[in-house]
Amino acid sequence: MTTSIIGFPRLGEHRELKFSTEKYWRHQITADQLQQAARDLRLKHWQLVKAAGIDGIPSNDFSFFDTTLDTATLLNIVPDAVDALDLSPLDRYFALARGYQGDHGDVKALPMKKWFNTNYHYLVPQFTATTQVKLVGSKIFDEYQEAQDAGIQTRPVIVGPFTLLSLSEFHDCQPTDFVTDLVAAYQTIFARLAAQGADWIQLDEPELVKDVTGTRRELFKTLYDQLLTQKSGLKVLVQTYFGDVRDVYTDLIHLPIEGVGLDFHEGRKTADLVRSGFPADKTLFAGVVNGKNIWRNHYAQTLALLKTLPVQRLVISTSCSLLHVPFTVANETFPAPVKQHFAFATEKLGELTDLQANLAGQKTTAFAANQALFAQPRVQPNPKVHDRIAHLTADSFTRQPALAQRAKIQQREFQLPLLPTTTIGSFPQTRDVKRTRAQFRKHEISQADYDHFIGEHIKEWLKWQEDIGLDVLVHGEFERNDMVEYFGQHLDGYLFSRNGWVQSYGTRGVKPPIIWGDVARNQPITVKWSTFAQRQTDKLVKGMLTGPVTILNWSFPREDISQRESTIQIALAIQDEVLDLEKNGIKIIQIDEAALREKLPLRQSDWYSEYLDWAVPAFRLVHSRVQPGTQIHTHMCYSEFTDIIPAIQNLDADVISFEASRSNLEILDALQREHFQLQVGPGVYDIHSPRIPSVAEITTTIHQILAKVPEQKVWINPDCGLKTRGVTEAKASVANLTAAAKAIRAEL
Ligand code: GLN
Ligand code: ZN
Repeated sequence: MTTSIIGFPRLGEHRELKFSTEKYWRHQITADQLQQAARDLRLKHWQLVKAAGIDGIPSNDFSFFDTTLDTATLLNIVPDAVDALDLSPLDRYFALARGYQGDHGDVKALPMKKWFNTNYHYLVPQFTATTQVKLVGSKIFDEYQEAQDAGIQTRPVIVGPFTLLSLSEFHDCQPTDFVTDLVAAYQTIFARLAAQGADWIQLDEPELVKDVTGTRRELFKTLYDQLLTQKSGLKVLVQTYFGDVRDVYTDLIHLPIEGVGLDFHEGRKTADLVRSGFPADKTLFAGVVNGKNIWRNHYAQTLALLKTLPVQRLVISTSCSLLHVPFTVANETFPAPVKQHFAFATEKLGELTDLQANLAGQKTTAFAANQALFAQPRVQPNPKVHDRIAHLTADSFTRQPALAQRAKIQQREFQLPLLPTTTIGSFPQTRDVKRTRAQFRKHEISQADYDHFIGEHIKEWLKWQEDIGLDVLVHGEFERNDMVEYFGQHLDGYLFSRNGWVQSYGTRGVKPPIIWGDVARNQPITVKWSTFAQRQTDKLVKGMLTGPVTILNWSFPREDISQRESTIQIALAIQDEVLDLEKNGIKIIQIDEAALREKLPLRQSDWYSEYLDWAVPAFRLVHSRVQPGTQIHTHMCYSEFTDIIPAIQNLDADVISFEASRSNLEILDALQREHFQLQVGPGVYDIHSPRIPSVAEITTTIHQILAKVPEQKVWINPDCGLKTRGVTEAKASVANLTAAAKAIRAEL
């Protein structure tokens, strides 16, 4: 019995890779210097994993941006336009990841999407009819060699062919067109690695935890039947994660491979599947240490589980790559009683070897300490929170009166024109704004000076909103660093790490807050600045909150209570805030659910039963007690909800704004088809680009919307918050938006 990990964080303990890469982008260091920094990090990480006593050490899990992109470039899946730029391999790679504009030409970046149910993003490979799949790169071989030269035997990792094809986009062609070439390319990789001295290869196939039936299952079988005819003596590990492989378990364990990697955390059925039988000649890589969360493993439970598995060859592993957790707890300053509950990537290595020792029959002190840790209650429950939850009834989740009646009352009260205009909440976070917030955080300026600064900013932007004639104003969110962290900092039950960075995409990290205990609000959070803003103007100012599902999804959740329960706690806290805003004269309140779609289960059959059936009620709980005359808005970042429209409708908000500028017609058709009842603000221009949309362009978009949605139900707004935009472009764009809305209104 041995230990292994699926992958290790790449950015480095102190995000060294981020800083080196960004320096290279700014032309402050050379390509050679960047490559050297990357080599140093890889070596440090291999040595660290090895020194921790882990047997199965991956290589090629490193990436300058994303491993799916690495696989695409390795296999020549690169758009012609990028090849035509004639850049160095490294610059061509970054051109694919980030776009390129310069002496060599102008190309857009590849599309980027969320990696399964995580907040990590991958670049979407683009296949066209002219794509010639073949092995053209050498990264996987170079990195294997690099480790070997350092005396470390590694298991090279690559995205498997089924996952690669499943995640890619196909233009005038289809996945099956590429099977033969793809199989040949992977077989060449096998042969070269074997010649270099590798014994194992790991093919990452997380797609296998989704629904794999019909043609998808056929594709999987075709790929692997062909691929495994020539392994060049390599042992093949097919590694899955983020769920269980119930649709293909039998297919998988009967493949002529040597290792199967399964996730025992998110894979609810994994243990049962393995108990139903596992071949004696194969090795199970059992993902029992959670790669996605930051809590200590419960050794006794894990050992009990492992002992029930009828497996002869066992490798103790993580449930997914450690990419999704921060580097180490060592640099954190939590008090010891708190800190002992956390295991980040480095500490999880120790957990694997602890488990190995104990499974082998040693009674270690680490095991005793772990038992003691779990024997003590970790947190004191908050009786008030539990009491409130115990008293919730069906009525607590239902707002009265019904949507249509509320709409009439609100219209009478607000007297808004047709096609009311508004924005999504934030205005540009200029360097000035960020610097002042940082100074305040470090106590370099006083509360009074800080408040003065924020107040002046709000006034200035309110005046501008009035000048251009927006109908519903916002205060601009200048006091917020981030839409989740800001709320977490004002809620009981939350903890914040100092250095708990997790890669989100490329060089970008996020530092998810940690839900430590029962969540409750002990004082108003947004009332001060919302009411300040409302006092400055006769127009309506929208209050701005983050919804409970998004707050949960962008935090590290507890494992001792369900995510559902944590979300209900957060919902009650935000409900308090909603009612306080209302009491203080805020008539329109927007509750953002930017990340609602993100944690939708990977299997469609689980969407409602495992998620939406509690996520939607949690949102309803937040606003169920407001007066009929208070208007509730919500905002979602992606318009990718054509398939969950009944759930969105069921949020029972009065108005929803969403990102639609890139896929307008599709979502509008779906709204029409499904008789969507809420008022809607399909974003009329793309805020993710610095381009300023003209009045004519926005006018066209509004006409397209009006062709599908009744005019009484349409709001006009950008498609997301403006915090990442420059001041000039933000102002010009929104001014054009109001001009377009006014012109059309005059025609109606
Ligand atoms: N109200 C937030 C803002 O305007 C919404 C951000 C988001 O949807 N991601 O920034
Ligand atoms: Zn958004």
